[in-house]
Amino acid sequence: MFRSAAAKLTLGYLTIIMTLSIGFSVAIYHISSNELERSASRPVDLYNNIFGPESASEVNKLRQQQLNKDRNRLKLNLTLYNLAVLAVGGGLSYFLARRTLAPIEEMLEMQKRFTGDASHELRTPLTAMQSEIEVALRDPDLSKPAAVKLLKSNLEEVAKLKALSEGLLTLATAGQDTSHQKIPLNAVCAEAIKQVTKRAKDQQINIKSSAEAIEVMGNHQQILNLLSILLDNAIKYSPKGSEVKLSVKAKDRYALITVADRGAGIARKDLPHIFDRFYRADSSRTKSRKEGYGLGLAIAKKIVDLHNGVIDVNSQPAKGSTFSVRFPLA
Ligand code: ADP
Repeated sequence: MFRSAAAKLTLGYLTIIMTLSIGFSVAIYHISSNELERSASRPVDLYNNIFGPESASEVNKLRQQQLNKDRNRLKLNLTLYNLAVLAVGGGLSYFLARRTLAPIEEMLEMQKRFTGDASHELRTPLTAMQSEIEVALRDPDLSKPAAVKLLKSNLEEVAKLKALSEGLLTLATAGQDTSHQKIPLNAVCAEAIKQVTKRAKDQQINIKSSAEAIEVMGNHQQILNLLSILLDNAIKYSPKGSEVKLSVKAKDRYALITVADRGAGIARKDLPHIFDRFYRADSSRTKSRKEGYGLGLAIAKKIVDLHNGVIDVNSQPAKGSTFSVRFPLA
C-alpha cells in the first residue's frame, strides 16, 4: 500500500517539477531565440554600400545559417538540461515522497500494534471468565457456594475489563478537552492524595507532601489524573510500611513536581519503555503480579505533553524511583 502511495506521490512531485522546468525552458527558448533573431537582422546596409547587394545577401544567408545553428544548440542544451532535471528530480521526488509518508506509516504501524495489544489485554479476562463459566455449567450439582465463588471471580474480571476500557478511553480522549485555566498545584495535590488515601492505608504507606502555592496553566482534571497515576504507582510498587514523598516547588520558570518512593525500582532495560502503551516491566507481570495494564504512564506522558511539560524518571532497582514533571509556571 505504502509502496504504491510513494510511487503516486513521486509521480505527482515529478510532474510539478517537470511542468515548471519545461515551462521555463520554453520561455527561455523563445526569449533567447527572439534575441538571436534580432541581432541577426541588424542592417546590412554597410555591406550593401561597400561590397554591393550580392555580398549583403550572402551575409544574410550566413547569418540565417548561424541563427539556425544557434537555435538548434539552444534546443539541444535545454533538452539535456530537462533530462538532467528529470533524473535529479525523480530521485528528489522519491526522497520527498518517502519523507512525507514516513510519519503516516509510523502512525499506522503504532495504531496496528495498539489494536493488537488492546485486543490481547481484553481477551485475557474474557477467556478466564468464559472457561470458569463453562466448567460451572458442565457441573450438574453446582452448589450455591461454588456459584457465588464463580460470580465473585467473574466480577473481579469485569472490574479489570472496566479499568482497562476506562484507561483506553482516557488515552483516546485526553487531548479533546483543551480548556486551560490557572491551576493551584497545592490544591490539586491535596485532591490527588485524597484519591489514593485508601490504597495507601491498605498498604500502610505514609504519604509525605510538601507543596508550594504555585500555579500552572492547565486542565484541572488532567493534572489531577496525572498526580493520581504517579502516586498510585508509587504506592503499588512500594513495600508495605514504606514512605512516598510528593513535592511541588518552583524552579527557574518551571513548576517541579516529584513523586518519590522507596519501592521496587525499575530495571535499566525497562526505563526507556515504561511510558509506552501496554508496557509493563517483567517483574510487574510475573514475580509480584501487580495489577495493571501498562496504561498509567502512557496516559501521564500524554497529559504532560498536552501541557508542554516534561516527565522524567530516576530509578534504581530495589532502592526506589523518583518521577519528576516540569510544567511552565502560569
Ligand atoms: P501499570 O502500573 O498498570 O503496569 P504503568 O504504565 O503505570 O502501568 O507503568 C508501567 C510500568 O512501569 C509498570 O508495569 C512498572 O513496571 C513500572 N513502574 C511504574 N511506576 C513505578 C514505580 N513507582 N516503581 C516501580 N516501577 C514502576
